[in-house]
Amino acid sequence: MTLASPSARWRHSELLLPTPAGLYCPPADIHIDPVRPVARALITHGHSDHARAGHGAVLATRETLAIMALRYGEGFAATQQVAEPGEIIRIGEVAFRFAPAGHVLGSAQIVVESRGLRIVASGDYKRERDPTCACFEVVPCDIFISEATFGLPVFRHPPADGEIAKLLESVRLFPERTHIVGAYSLGKAQRVMALIREAGYERPIYIHGAVEKLTEFYQAEGIPLGEIRKVADFDRKALGGEIVICPPSATQDLWARRFPDPVTAFASGWMRIRARARQKGVELPLVISDHAGWDDLLATIRDVQAGEIWVTHGEAEALVHWCGTAGLRAKPLHLVGYGDEGEADPKEEVADAAI
Ligand SMILES: [Zn+2]
Ligand SMILES: [Zn+2]
Repeated sequence: MTLASPSARWRHSELLLPTPAGLYCPPADIHIDPVRPVARALITHGHSDHARAGHGAVLATRETLAIMALRYGEGFAATQQVAEPGEIIRIGEVAFRFAPAGHVLGSAQIVVESRGLRIVASGDYKRERDPTCACFEVVPCDIFISEATFGLPVFRHPPADGEIAKLLESVRLFPERTHIVGAYSLGKAQRVMALIREAGYERPIYIHGAVEKLTEFYQAEGIPLGEIRKVADFDRKALGGEIVICPPSATQDLWARRFPDPVTAFASGWMRIRARARQKGVELPLVISDHAGWDDLLATIRDVQAGEIWVTHGEAEALVHWCGTAGLRAKPLHLVGYGDEGEADPKEEVADAAI
């Protein structure tokens, strides 16, 4: 069999390769999560570093397309196509399938298959149970593409329900103070609300204006979040003892000072690093991550049984090194433009991990 033959197995880089615009599949002429405007794009999920406006044709899950329309307006792309759950979409001689990634509502891994070679571009993912989205599907493959936001052994995320218990215990101990929880507006905010409900908390939960649209979307999608109230409809001084969910930046704004003696919490994988919490003035750090921590990155690499691992961004070196010790081929792709939303953060905070 030679490469000239139409049925010859692809060399990896012929099926998928990193380019400045993002991962590119030449035989289908399509990019995955492109960071620049392109003719055709597959989008893994709605976070703004992956889902950008201005592409020609966009193919994504129904939820991701709806989230993009909410954020950018209906005209965010020239054309849109829904990838149905389990559907195999053929473009040229490449078959694509969207498999759940467990990251946020609608999030998907993209399975790229042609001539017997299967590559899985996982986007952002986590393995921990999340009541707001479908759980990660293990798709065995030849090459697994992973991010490594929390790709260092220090990042071991505890179970999220224990972190929520800490929040509710604080609410019980300080019934006169407002608990302000910083959480990213797509996914984390709604997951925190759903977990609070699972823990049996029945009072209304108050939300910042920046969280409203996506929270309403999650509710419309049938995710039970209980009674949600808009902070804007109330006098903040009267919200002592209540839980308020807002974007992380708002916890440090003047906006937050108007609540009675606020307790500032932040739900993020970065809260594993105490210095980071201190630096951000977070009184109640909640280690709740929508990205796989170190143990789950390794477990996933084992589960998918790929012989080769590509690492897109984050702590690529540590993960690539571990793959080498495990006898796997691995390489960093050094993709730029990812990590602006969700849990991403600059290098210096990882350096704090040693403290
Ligand atoms: Zn994300
Ligand atoms: Zn991301």
